[in-house]
Amino acid sequence: MSETIFSKILRREIPADIVYEDDDVLGFRDVNPQAPVHVLFIPKTPIATLNDLTPEHAALMGRLVLAATHFAKREGFDELGYRTVFNCNQHGGQTVFHIHLHLLAGRQLGWPPG
Ligand code: 5GP
Repeated sequence: MSETIFSKILRREIPADIVYEDDDVLGFRDVNPQAPVHVLFIPKTPIATLNDLTPEHAALMGRLVLAATHFAKREGFDELGYRTVFNCNQHGGQTVFHIHLHLLAGRQLGWPPG
């Protein structure tokens, strides 16, 4: 898969506000936040889109979601709640082709999305 800006963040070649890390997942604040809290969780293994997932990725994707829920509890907005989003390809609005889970929190979020 081709190089993305997130690969550079993973290698610490460009700065990011990193708020979470474990063996498999990195979490950092979105540079263009859409809510008071907007964090991107990425697998350290680069996978371009949700369409590229295979059964071998099941545990990794579970750890990605658990990283987000761990962060929500750690930061204390789990009770009020939050939204998690994966965008996929053009109609999903994906712009960076390294799978990432958006975590949005800190205000009432509208539904459905536009
Ligand atoms: P997508 O549209 O692919 O679902 O989300 C990509 C997200 O990455 C966008 O919300 C965008 O603001 C964020 N983003 C793009 N480039 C950078 C960057 O260099 N640093 C950080 N922290 N976020 C970025």
